[in-house]
Amino acid sequence: MAEEGFHYSPLPGKTYSLFDRGSSTDGYYDLIQQLADECLKKYPDKETLLGELRRASARKHMLRRAREGLGDPDMVFLLGRISPALSEYTPFVKQHLEDLSILRFRDRRLWTSEEQYHLYMLEIELVNRINREEFMKCERKIAFLPHCLKDFKHGCKSSMSDIDYVCRGCSNACFLNRVSTLLRQYGIDAYIWMGTDLKKLKGLSHSGRRIGGLGIACVPELVMGMRESLHLGLPTVGVPLSANRCARWMGDFYENSVSLERIVQLVSP
Ligand code: SF4
Repeated sequence: MAEEGFHYSPLPGKTYSLFDRGSSTDGYYDLIQQLADECLKKYPDKETLLGELRRASARKHMLRRAREGLGDPDMVFLLGRISPALSEYTPFVKQHLEDLSILRFRDRRLWTSEEQYHLYMLEIELVNRINREEFMKCERKIAFLPHCLKDFKHGCKSSMSDIDYVCRGCSNACFLNRVSTLLRQYGIDAYIWMGTDLKKLKGLSHSGRRIGGLGIACVPELVMGMRESLHLGLPTVGVPLSANRCARWMGDFYENSVSLERIVQLVSP
């Protein structure tokens, strides 16, 4: 269900988009929850399933074969279960990778394979299930938002605060403003991610108040950020951008969004 009074525009991404045929990403979130439930029937322990997902996504060279039913049985099971359903949301990965091989870019995130996207999508859902309770108990909660959610038609008035930049609310049409305002209603401090070293948060955590993190980023970037935060001992949850449309992927910035309903689900007491 869309947040009251709010309508999304369906957005195509460079490689993925969580919009299905309508102007909503609800179908994606229903599906990923259903797939997580199915995989947990085979691996009832969430940490074990998480380990399998990470092991599989690190073996990129074996994933294509596993998707065809060959090789490592755990990888065959996982991809057999999730890839046919999730491929609707990753329609342009193949073409993107073909274009990259001509341009020879070295940025590893850009080389994310379609199977890795699917494993990362499930990893985000699973990490949210594992960490939500701990995140909610944290005395201070911080969100990092990508600057590609800004209103680019407007001269952004964001400015530096204690940890990173914060939105100053100069544009009502700005999606980043909308997300920051929503998060404030749930007691979460929203920052615009401008490259803060996450180790700084660990230092703040030691000052007495436990800090929890909420990340918003494109699928591969979010997975890596969540892994790093968890490695630093920060309870972390995350919501993927609805598509990947920033300059890194598209050569320029285009409007983007994230599911406000999914954020509310995740941060509601
Ligand atoms: S509303 Fe906030 S993030 Fe958006 S352009 Fe203005 S200051 Fe920047």
